[in-house]
Amino acid sequence: MALIVQKYGGTSVGSPERIKNLARRVARYKALGHQIVVVVSAMSGETNRLINLAKEIMPDPDPRELDVMVSTGEQVTIGLTSMALMELGIKAKSYTGAQVRIVTDSAFTKARILSIDEQNIRRDLEAGNVVVVAGFQGVDEHGNITTLGRGGSDTTGVALAAALKADECQIYTDVDGVYTTDPRVVPEARRLKSITFEEMLELASQGSKVLQIRSVEFAGKYKVKLRVLSSFEEDGEGTLITFEEDSDKDSQDMEQPIISGIAFNRDEAKIAVLGVPDKPGIAYQILGPIADANIDVDMIIQNMGADGTTDFTFTVHKNEMNKALGILKSVQAHIGAREIVGDDKIAKVSVVGVGMRSHVGIASQMFRTLAEEGINLQMISTSEIKIAVVIDEKYMELAVRVLHKAFDLDQA
Ligand code: ASP
Ligand code: MG
Repeated sequence: MALIVQKYGGTSVGSPERIKNLARRVARYKALGHQIVVVVSAMSGETNRLINLAKEIMPDPDPRELDVMVSTGEQVTIGLTSMALMELGIKAKSYTGAQVRIVTDSAFTKARILSIDEQNIRRDLEAGNVVVVAGFQGVDEHGNITTLGRGGSDTTGVALAAALKADECQIYTDVDGVYTTDPRVVPEARRLKSITFEEMLELASQGSKVLQIRSVEFAGKYKVKLRVLSSFEEDGEGTLITFEEDSDKDSQDMEQPIISGIAFNRDEAKIAVLGVPDKPGIAYQILGPIADANIDVDMIIQNMGADGTTDFTFTVHKNEMNKALGILKSVQAHIGAREIVGDDKIAKVSVVGVGMRSHVGIASQMFRTLAEEGINLQMISTSEIKIAVVIDEKYMELAVRVLHKAFDLDQA
């Protein structure tokens, strides 16, 4: 008997028929004697609908109030899912995040989980219930409802699996695993049988939407066995997220392609602070106020100084570009910047693979491939297992296609 956490995404609960389908799958696992915790997202499209509704009332919605209403999508699906299980004669009980006591910090719309009280869930499981938990939400220490950021139900699933020391966390979604890249952009993309946590972490942070990045961080930290599966297939094996040190390094190196995947992201905007004095402390003067406003910064570039001034460029989420620009304009005189400009017509494309550690020339191959298509690189950043570039948004799909081919990802 195993304890399994199964997380179902929005499409898997997108209609009554699909919820019944989900319940039948849970019933099959239950019949094998397993204890099951189900985590559900809101019905597909519902979270977007709620956010848009909020914006009709308040164009820049108050974060606390936004979380109160946006979290309701999941409250609907936990009730429906429990009912679907009951209809199959299975004992089920639903919990909102606050009812479990999934305690988070108070960063509304992107809260982090601080602790989970798993006592009630354990008791219900022991009593033979399937426990159904609302994804994406928690409660802060003051009792405010919080949400965990878009795609946050994955994190709820993995965090519960960690807290309950579950045997496996299964993420059911509308794709049957993790692909070399998004098959909607490159039809030749292939499903990976396994991928390391580090690669998954890079792919998720670079824009792959299969798993929310925080869920991967959690899984890595607490060594949760994580598998991505299709909710529309009876028995696909999906993609297993593995730990590099667990697999035999030598055999791994021979089989493992150098590059595992290509991620892309249209969600970032570039902010350039031009003509700032080239002196110590300037990066802090620019990014300090940005961090104080709780705005995440991704890539950062500072040019070589000339004539005592330099340019400083960084990327933020598109939704936060105007806020960041406003903050910088208010300190522009103080920093002594000549000009501050934002550009949200950019895209980031990244190639990821642990094989980069032992192979040289990946960056040059990537840059040559893009150069041959006349694609200009606006920013570059690298890690041990990733190379990311910022390019004009209109070349994004082309870049992904040619890189997928250049790195032989279409070949099994
Ligand atoms: N419903 C939330 C969203 O759409 C959370 C999730 O689906 O994971 O972002
Ligand atoms: Mg998702």
